[in-house]
Amino acid sequence: MNLKPEPLAFELSSPGRVGVALPACDVPATPLPKAMLRAELKLPELDELTVVRHFTLLSQKNFSIDSQYYPLGSCTMKYNPKVNEQAAAQPGWRGTHPLVGDAYSQGAIELMYRLQRSLEKIGGFVASSLQPAAGAHGELAGVFMIRAYHVSRGDLKRTTMLIPDSAHGTNPATCTMAGMNVVTIPSNAEGGVDLDQLKAHCNDTVAGIMITNPSTLGLFERNMEKIAGIVHDCGGLVYGDGANMNAIAGIVRPADLGVDVMHYNLHKTFSTPHGGGGPGVGFVGAAPILAPFLPGPVAVEKGGSYAMAMPEKSIGRLKSFYGNFGVLVRAYTYVLMLGEEGMRRMSESAVLNANYLKVLVEKHYKVKFPRRCMHEFVAMGDVAEGIHTLDIAKRLIDYGFHPPTIYFPLIVPEAIMIEPTETESKETLDAFAAVMAKIAEEAKTHPELLHDAPHDTPVGRLDEVAAARCPVLCYRG
Ligand SMILES: *Cc1c(COP(=O)(O)O)cnc(C)c1O
Repeated sequence: MNLKPEPLAFELSSPGRVGVALPACDVPATPLPKAMLRAELKLPELDELTVVRHFTLLSQKNFSIDSQYYPLGSCTMKYNPKVNEQAAAQPGWRGTHPLVGDAYSQGAIELMYRLQRSLEKIGGFVASSLQPAAGAHGELAGVFMIRAYHVSRGDLKRTTMLIPDSAHGTNPATCTMAGMNVVTIPSNAEGGVDLDQLKAHCNDTVAGIMITNPSTLGLFERNMEKIAGIVHDCGGLVYGDGANMNAIAGIVRPADLGVDVMHYNLHKTFSTPHGGGGPGVGFVGAAPILAPFLPGPVAVEKGGSYAMAMPEKSIGRLKSFYGNFGVLVRAYTYVLMLGEEGMRRMSESAVLNANYLKVLVEKHYKVKFPRRCMHEFVAMGDVAEGIHTLDIAKRLIDYGFHPPTIYFPLIVPEAIMIEPTETESKETLDAFAAVMAKIAEEAKTHPELLHDAPHDTPVGRLDEVAAARCPVLCYRG
């Protein structure tokens, strides 16, 4: 018997069918203004059960971490304990309003204050802000802070940001958006920053460097202190992209390596589920030299009570009110639950899982930089003549796995960027590796299975360019 649900029918409307039973009207009926009634809208007429089934089936067509393995490189699609959701849903947190003022928000501000201190401690920073709503937003805060620092000293010609070619794509985008000139620093044969190239580009127009460490190659930058030294010596500052803190939290403090300002993604490492474009927080931590420039307001403590205050030379607000507060409650719950020991184990498990999976995948796929990786690694999809990474990604869907990040980082041809995360079991990693091995075999014996994939999804292989350029946004076509 085929138990597979039927493909979604979208036209379910039936004339005269209704989903609600309203009580009899006990006020005089007033017709709606004619201008508001738009006949062309053709609102569907449906009963409640049909609506419930429609949306439930639709939700089941989605990939989610709660249903399937999701090793999407650089995105940390890990499992986030449900207790953090429960904490954020407590009526006291959920129902509070920023306009009630500091006096009536002591608990909420204390939570923000404690979270700031905990996250600062993890990175070795002295001050921080919870304003930015995303990682890239945190980057923007950091670049503005670096620029404000130089301007405050009357040093106006520093308009260049150096960015290694192994950086996350948001790094050059953010710097460009902030009005900086971006200069790309190439990687050396080991996948690290080429120090000679870096030195060659350091001069008195450099505002700073923006560096992703671990890089998007999943490699720890071993020369981090040297790099920071070179940039500091020429008068620049160091921005660290810490979106992937789950590789190093509790093990190394970026500020000790010379980072002056850094964001972490609370919606990756610190327990807010993401991927659907929901709310996030790009916490920004600062070393003493940049602390006065942080975006605000930030939570401060004065003699046992809490208040929101603007840092001394703040770059200003980046968001209305106080950031995405629910994300902060989840992160604080998570930090308390793990503690210092647990934070270190989180990172160690992320790195261990990635290295375990890398050894299994490496038997069938090239790995560009085969040295020990951090939380992720980059394999290559050119396993057979005429087979591309896209084919492998689509075939993985047939086996029930979300494809890894593909064709990124740009410096690895046919890249497959795999981030197993710390929350997956050995059984899941083994199952994924076995499927990767099977697909590498199919690529040689039955390439059409890869070229035609996916086979079992509601829609097959899409024209992704057309889908992005000419999207069909209405179900009526
Ligand atoms: C995810 C990520 C970002 C951007 O974070 P958003 O919240 O998506 O803006 C930046 N850098 C790295 C390394 C990342 O993995």
